[in-house]
Formats: sequence, C-alpha cells, structure tokens
Amino acid sequence: MPNFKPARRLAQLPPYLFAEIDRVKNEVKAKGVDIIDLGVGDPDLPTPDFIIQSMNKAVAKSEHHRYPSYSGLNSFRECVARWYKSRFGVTLDPTSQVLSLIGSKEGLAHFPLAFVDPGDLVMTSTPNYPVYPIATMFAGGETHFVPLTESTDFLPDLDAIPEDVWKRAKIFFLNYPNNPTSAMAPRSFYEKLIAKAREFGTILVHDAAYSEMYYNPANKPLSILEIPGAMDVAIEFHSLSKTYNMTGWRVGMAVGNQELVQGLGKIKSNIDSGIFQAVQEAGITALDHGEAFAQEMRDIYKGRRDVVVAELAKIGLECRSPEATFYVWTKVPQGRDSTGFVAEVLQKTGVVVTPGNGFGTPGEGYFRIALTVGEDRLLEALARIAKL
Ligand code: PLP
Repeated sequence: MPNFKPARRLAQLPPYLFAEIDRVKNEVKAKGVDIIDLGVGDPDLPTPDFIIQSMNKAVAKSEHHRYPSYSGLNSFRECVARWYKSRFGVTLDPTSQVLSLIGSKEGLAHFPLAFVDPGDLVMTSTPNYPVYPIATMFAGGETHFVPLTESTDFLPDLDAIPEDVWKRAKIFFLNYPNNPTSAMAPRSFYEKLIAKAREFGTILVHDAAYSEMYYNPANKPLSILEIPGAMDVAIEFHSLSKTYNMTGWRVGMAVGNQELVQGLGKIKSNIDSGIFQAVQEAGITALDHGEAFAQEMRDIYKGRRDVVVAELAKIGLECRSPEATFYVWTKVPQGRDSTGFVAEVLQKTGVVVTPGNGFGTPGEGYFRIALTVGEDRLLEALARIAKL
C-alpha cells in the first residue's frame, strides 16, 4: 500500500466545527433520540417560489449551459450595484468593484491568497466564523486574534491593539452583524476603524452576510462602504444565502475597493469557473424583488427570538436579545464550561447548540442558539433544557 504523506497544512487543520458537531449529533440520533437542531445557521424555511420560478426559466436557456464568465454575469453585477445603491446608498462600478462568488465562504476563503504572503500577519476579531484564520493559514499567514467581549459590546477595542500589530497586519477580518455574538457595529466604530486602517495601510475585510437579518428598522445594519474613506481600504463580502433562504444555491458577492476585488478575481479565475448563470439569474430576481420576502423572514425570526429570550430568562440563562442575525448568544450556567454543557445538552436532551469556544477562546462560557426551527420546536427544546 502506498504511504501518502499529507501536507503540513492538513495536519494543522482542526475538524470543521460543524462537521464535528454533526458527527456527534448522528451518534445520538442513531440511538433513536428526537433531535432538535439549533446548531448550524441554515434557514429551515424554503427558498420562495418567485425565486424558484425564475430559476426554472433560466435553467432552460441553453446559453446558461456553458462555462459562466469568471467575474459573473454583467447583469448580476449590475443588479448587485443597484441593490447596494438602494439599500445602503453606496455607488459601485459593476465592472471593477463587484465580483460574483460561489457563496461568500468561497470568497472569504480565497481572499488571503491574493494579499497574504507566508509570514504575513492578519487580524481577526474573535469569536469568529472559522473560515478567516483557516484561510489565512492556507496562504501561509499568521493570525492575531482580537477579542470581542461583552464589556465592549462585542466590538474590538481598536486602541488596545498594539501599534506593532497594526503596523504588521495586512488584513483585518471583521463581521457585523456578528456571528456568533449577534452584535451590531455603530457608525462611530466604523469611522474609527477606517481611520486606523488608512493610517496603517490595513485591508479591511468586512463580512456582511447578516446585514438583512435585523429587527429594529430604525437601526438597520450598515455596509462598511457607507462610511467615507472605506472604498480606499475595504472589501465587503455578502451573500444571498441567509436573506432569501438560499444557502444551498451558493451565490454571493464581493464588493468594494477595485484593487482588492480584482485581486480576488484573479485568484478565482485560476481556481473556479464562476457560478452557474441560471443561479445568477435567480439571484437577480431575489435582489430586485426580494425585499417583501426578507421582511416576512425578519418577522418570523423576531417571533422566534422573543420566544427564546423569554424562555431563557425563565430558566435563568443569561443572554442579550439580539437586534440582528438569527443567533442568540447565551451564557452557560455558572460553573460550567461551553464544551461540557453543550455535550450534556445534546446527550441528555437531543438539542443541538454550538459551544461558544468553538468560535475562539473568548467564546468560552457561552453557547449559540440558531433560530432555525419553528416556535413550537424552540419551546420544546427549551423545555427539555429547563428540565436538565
Ligand atoms: N459569513 C458568516 C459570518 C457566516 O456565518 C456564513 C455562513 O454561515 C458565511 C459567511 C457563509 O455564507 P455563504 O457561503 O452561504 O454565503
């Protein structure tokens, strides 16, 4: 038998957080336990009909059966620019400042290959979506983790980052509304962040996958590109996944500074061959006509959020009611650690939640509830946890 020696990066790679949780979940399920999955952030409700119909039409067009264009259909990129204008008041040149992605995860994972050399430093706020440090590692970079804690409303303390880190770091990965803490970032934070990035020449990678999941219309999440000066230093990653229940379709976009967008595009043109154009056509329909649907979804998640926050309070588990995202970032009971608590909840109740430390060290002491089942099942899940 040949003895294959894997690359060092394979050995460095931890199991993907949710793949590991899935493995344990399936073990418990095999014992006949009725599982309630509040783990991965995958909307439970279907993609709406008007988007499916658009896809059905598009899939029959033979021009879509060939290789797509690398950077995305012009019509898709124009639509993204139109949506950014109407939602955020941000002007984008569709040709040079918009790139289509096979989901935002794909773009985030490839971005460091364009701007990080071996030995370069990259900052990542943490707890974090696991892709940022892994993508940095793939490019040979090193991650400096910047903690998000309750004391600073889960915003990085920009003044506490040592000056030599600011000087060395090529990129700063940030994500608001934040997964997993559900925190939002105010305009004043972005202003300070952009001033710092301009001073030190830092690339800001802003992951805005949850910008449309908000519950207070008077306080909508911002695009970083709304802030003056951002276009010089920032690239924003966005996605149709969460807003329109399209996680399976794999469609997203990178927008912002032309050099950053083009750099990523160059890497991608050597790796993938674009998104199925029929999916991009359906994406156009979603962005152009999806606002009423997005509002329906916000109403549903808001109802679920209120149920969960109220039940957690009854049980005596502490959380902040999220103003955005479909995650409730909750403290584990006093004296318990995240991993042990979450494992016990899964083994004894069949309820899957995510341990906070799975997103990074400052997540210790928390667990994340995803509002991805209906109110009845949420009530059932919390009743089981209460008994425990
Ligand atoms: N960014 C964040 C913060 C996420 O939580 C997710 C998915 O869970 C993604 C990006 C990736 O989304 P997609 O690749 O479906 O666009």
